[in-house]
Amino acid sequence: MISKEHIINRFVSYITIDTESDPESLTTPSTEKQWNLAHKLVEELKAIGMLDVSIDDNAYIMATLPSNVDYDVPTVGFISHFDTSPDFTGAHINPQIIEKYNGKDIILNQEKNIILSPDYFEDLLQYKGQTLITTDGTTLLGADDKAGICEIISAMEYLINHPEIKHGTIRVGFTPDEEIGRGAHKFNVEKFGAAWAYTMDGSQIGELEYENFNAASAVVKIKGRSVHPGYAKGKLVNSMYFATEFINSLPRLETPEHTEEYQGFFHLHTIKGDVEETVLQYIIRDHDKGHFEARKEMMQKLTEELNSQYEEDIISIEIKDQYYNMQEKIEPVMHIVDIAEEAMKQIGITPLIKAIRGGTDGSQLSYMGLPCPNIFAGGHNFHGRYEYVPVESMIKATELICKIAELTAIQYKA
Ligand SMILES: [Zn+2]
Repeated sequence: MISKEHIINRFVSYITIDTESDPESLTTPSTEKQWNLAHKLVEELKAIGMLDVSIDDNAYIMATLPSNVDYDVPTVGFISHFDTSPDFTGAHINPQIIEKYNGKDIILNQEKNIILSPDYFEDLLQYKGQTLITTDGTTLLGADDKAGICEIISAMEYLINHPEIKHGTIRVGFTPDEEIGRGAHKFNVEKFGAAWAYTMDGSQIGELEYENFNAASAVVKIKGRSVHPGYAKGKLVNSMYFATEFINSLPRLETPEHTEEYQGFFHLHTIKGDVEETVLQYIIRDHDKGHFEARKEMMQKLTEELNSQYEEDIISIEIKDQYYNMQEKIEPVMHIVDIAEEAMKQIGITPLIKAIRGGTDGSQLSYMGLPCPNIFAGGHNFHGRYEYVPVESMIKATELICKIAELTAIQYKA
């Protein structure tokens, strides 16, 4: 129904525009170059016949596909981000199209001997016989999340060309700067005006997610006192030893490398230290709100306890919440997950419902009043040279968006 060639051409036209975001920048969008794709998307939305196409001063794009039924259906939104990760370069992307993938190693770059192999990436094997789009080994691909944008626009185009498919009002939203954690920040939920939405920003076909971590950051500062080591007895305080004590007092097995599924963790990601001062940067993650609070309290208590062993407070801690598990906001409106699940089944996709060990824009949007589960966009190995996307998964995601629109209208039929 949706031509492979059409999807490939559209996708390639997006990924070949560099839109890398920059965490050091204070502006929105964080990089000027994101406007290049943003303007193109606005033109394209208009060209396919979307209404109320708008772009604001921060490059947030919104558009409407009007309802074609004569009864009330809640407005459903579909959201993607057009920036790519600053973890790896997105400049001069040179995509490779692998037709009828044979299940063997894919040579991304002969000269540099860069190989995409199912020996390491066994997920590849489930796409045997399909068309894969890969990098040339020197850049990321940008399927995260230009696959999502391609799918949403293609689905809107399909619905416009097939008025026999009945649906309520659909809103489309494209954001900058998701990869630096700021995709949702300036999203105008009220203007968007949807009852709920889906981010098309997951990975493999079938993914449907409505649980994510509760997340906080913690910065621990340990003060020392530097004295000439030859005259230091009873005077020198070495902050690094206290830092070690702090680190070792937290449960060693509750770390990312020892946990999975619903297990939370403390993750020490940076240590900077000398005798005078050591700074530890942690992130705290847990799906369970109670456990999340307990983890924060454990770090507070540890700080107090270590301070009480010394005559002055040498350790200080600053804990900041980052985002919360969207489950709390989704469970009261579980039908929005059920519709997506049912839509997948009806078009032959096996739903893979699992908790995200991370966050999404949808988790922030859910707390801003727009319940927003996450659906696969089809790509794998995001943020690096091994990123790839099967075209068949993108086509299925496009069909899924159409099916969700259709099922929602059926569900609300009087
Ligand atoms: Zn993404």
